Amino acid sequence: VTKPIAASADIVDEKTIIASQGKELRERLPVVVVLGHVDHGKTTLLDFIRKARVAYREKGGITQHLGAYEAHTPKGNVVFLDTPGHEAFSKIRQRGVKVADIVILIVAADDGVMPQTIESIKRAKSMKVPIVVAINKVDKVEQRRIDVVKRELSQHGLVVEEWGGEVVCVPISAKTGLGVDALLEMVLLQAQMMELRADISGGAKGYVLESKLEKGRGPVATVISQHGKLKIGDYIVSGSTGGRVSSIVDSHGARVLEAMPTIPVLVAGFENLPEAGDYFEVVAKENYRRMLDLASEQKIVIQSKSHSEGAINLIVKTDADSSREALVESITKLSQKAESGFNLLHVGIGNISESDVELAYNTGASIVGLHVKIETNAAVLAQRKKVAVTLFDIIYKLLEELEKRDEKTKKIEFVRVKIGEAEVIRVFDIKNIGIIAGAQVKDGRIV
Ligand code: GDP
Repeated sequence: VTKPIAASADIVDEKTIIASQGKELRERLPVVVVLGHVDHGKTTLLDFIRKARVAYREKGGITQHLGAYEAHTPKGNVVFLDTPGHEAFSKIRQRGVKVADIVILIVAADDGVMPQTIESIKRAKSMKVPIVVAINKVDKVEQRRIDVVKRELSQHGLVVEEWGGEVVCVPISAKTGLGVDALLEMVLLQAQMMELRADISGGAKGYVLESKLEKGRGPVATVISQHGKLKIGDYIVSGSTGGRVSSIVDSHGARVLEAMPTIPVLVAGFENLPEAGDYFEVVAKENYRRMLDLASEQKIVIQSKSHSEGAINLIVKTDADSSREALVESITKLSQKAESGFNLLHVGIGNISESDVELAYNTGASIVGLHVKIETNAAVLAQRKKVAVTLFDIIYKLLEELEKRDEKTKKIEFVRVKIGEAEVIRVFDIKNIGIIAGAQVKDGRIV
């Protein structure tokens, strides 16, 4: 994948030579992110490509997702960011780091350009990342819908090639796979024009895409190096944690000794869980402890509708750092528009333990878990102490439940408004009907 470019001096311009002094620039793979409106087919497309283009070499290898994968195509390889909801992606973006080289903008042909399509266009443009458009779901629409979508796109500044613009647009069906190879080819063409290079002379520097606790292996993280090779035995620092790289597994499930820039790999050897979206950097062994001590002095403070009165106390447990972030962000958002809001007393990673239950009991909180289980003794304790524990597999179900709980705290207010006045003149007590008043309206009206 990486061949030296210094040898072919004819393709290296003066600027590159100056920039490359003391550096060892190599070609690197393009990193691609799929953006688009919800339900337009992002997941389906990523799943299709993963199934068709990623072969898992080892049985029992990594079959769970890494948050990114390297797809093989006859014309070259492409790295896809496959992070659910792209939490890490948006965090990295907030820090102004350009992660993706190319955006595939997916637009469902039946639905056309929608708010998140427009948002994605803006996002790609502000990061100056080229867009390749995939018009999806062409298996379920008439041909003319494709032109309708193209016209809508042109209204948002994306003029397709056939209409004299520069935007490459490929009709696809993520479901049947129709056109997906053509799309990959266009992405690779775009990448070739960009002449993507990485400097591999120094230690690896990059970012964490995902992290989680793995049984027997402790904290592991998917990382992508932007420059430099990452090797087994390297000391790395990331956010407030770090470690010595003890194993590297690529997205095909194969154990490797080193990872080239832009190749997503799962790394073990961290002392604690690094955070999705954090930078990592290889440091010299002798500096490692000192840098780690410095870094761990910084503590994360979770902000919510900060311990406001009447708010619902919550303890949240989840399986991975990326879902933790997504949850904190969503709950904070929910809190802002909510009736009472939530106090996030503790947001942790891992199964629900006795100490979580103790904390909940002592603070009058309830516990919600996402993609986690409750330990048996913790379940017994929760039952005894009447601590509510609810487990979820899907984030939006969890949020829906929180919304419901918040709704219930709504105070109902009764307001009396006088619209009329009457004087009772005579009362009739009628069997089977009740008491009836004969009255005369003195003011306003009676409805
Ligand atoms: P996302 O929200 O953008 O990730 O969208 P999904 O990938 O979850 O797709 C939303 C729905 O559209 C799912 O029910 C898919 O099966 C369906 N879908 C996605 N791509 C296609 C396609 O090419 N053709 C058809 N007919 N349905 C599709």
